[in-house]
Amino acid sequence: MSSAFTPKVGFVSLGCPKALVDSEQILTQLRAEGYETAKSYDGADLVIVNTCGFIDSAVKESLDAIGEALNENGKVIVTGCLGGKKDASGEDVVQKVHPKVLAVTGPHALGEVMDAVHLHLPKPHEPFVDLVPPQGVKLTPTHYAYLKISEGCNHRCSFCIIPSLRGDLVSRPIAEVMLEAENLFKAGVKELLVISQDTSAYGVDVKFRTGFWGGKPVRTHMTDLVRSLGALASQYDAWVRLHYVYPYPHVDEAIPLMNEGHVLPYLDVPLQHSHPDVLKRMKRPANGEKNIERLRAWRAVCPDITIRSTVIAGFPGETEEEFQHLLDFLREAQIDRLGCFAYSPVEGAAANAIAPAVPDPLREERRARVMQVQEEISRQRLQAKVGTKMRVLIDQLDRNGAVARSAADAPEIDGVVYVALPYDPSRTLAVGEFVEVTVTAADAHDLWARVD
Ligand code: SF4
Repeated sequence: MSSAFTPKVGFVSLGCPKALVDSEQILTQLRAEGYETAKSYDGADLVIVNTCGFIDSAVKESLDAIGEALNENGKVIVTGCLGGKKDASGEDVVQKVHPKVLAVTGPHALGEVMDAVHLHLPKPHEPFVDLVPPQGVKLTPTHYAYLKISEGCNHRCSFCIIPSLRGDLVSRPIAEVMLEAENLFKAGVKELLVISQDTSAYGVDVKFRTGFWGGKPVRTHMTDLVRSLGALASQYDAWVRLHYVYPYPHVDEAIPLMNEGHVLPYLDVPLQHSHPDVLKRMKRPANGEKNIERLRAWRAVCPDITIRSTVIAGFPGETEEEFQHLLDFLREAQIDRLGCFAYSPVEGAAANAIAPAVPDPLREERRARVMQVQEEISRQRLQAKVGTKMRVLIDQLDRNGAVARSAADAPEIDGVVYVALPYDPSRTLAVGEFVEVTVTAADAHDLWARVD
């Protein structure tokens, strides 16, 4: 254990980008109050584990991580989605398995986590507030960062337990979101990834209240946010990418802004299925029948737009005919980037009660059929980019060249652009640099390119 004069906190961060943002906020607060972060369990006076409770494998990973922290260190505070979860008998899942944890909170609970830290590891007398960089502490590489604009969700999709874990939608004030974005750009962030459970619903909970940014009124609304972020990004020559956008009519207003430059022509639209009856059983927001028209209209306004989506195969009750509808939809929609999950029952989700369940092997088979169809679509769409010029952002460098991403590639979930080292040895490349390239080859996922 380290000296009590400079209290050190170990941190384990699991889960999705939204959980990552929670981790960043906790780490920022710890640093603001003078705590240090320990790199190992035995160098820490206390360990915080930020958990994920979305699917069963994530629950197991989180419980294992808590067990490891207890064994290695002994003083453990648990936060995150699993922390908010109860079992069928109403007992706290974490406390039941690991009764020795010091405290358990749900997600997005900065105040509660800090209260628990103060209780078990009192804060130093003179907080080194000036140690905190204005952008906070980031866990992502410094050239890109996630910007969480709201927490929770007003929908009740039957396969999802996020609303019961995180509650209804709570939008962050627009001025606060813009200030965080500005601090991130000032700190050198070149790509901002806007996240939430439902980005298109931003501001619904506060009736699109008007806030102020740069001395001007701005509504707490997706269109105003996108416009303001785009204008800010252009001052810093940076990108803004939108995730988790539902195809509501007002999203149409954001598409022309993508033609103006700094808001990337990229929309992550989680459609989940195409058949109206399946969508009804899923209790999905937004109308499945109009989705093809909407995608067409977006492409007419912004021909370069990249559409990313996810779908679920083998949802309870899915018939072969409904599944075929999904395959036909995908062939017609020509979605650029697609993730497909075989339905996996999440404990506590209403969909588990829908009959008949699709047998496990059939769910997997359908997932494989979706991916086969999508692979061909993706191969053709990427092939059409060979010979074109594009701007890419460099993520990594190695001896052979750079791994970069274009406007069409979100970090971690999409493909990449492999950039060959320039012939001219005086032309060096750097992580976080934008580079103009020409695409030389493609497969079904990635591109290869040379520096112009
Ligand atoms: S929109 Fe549906 S899937 Fe997404 S968080 Fe809300 S309830 Fe869950």
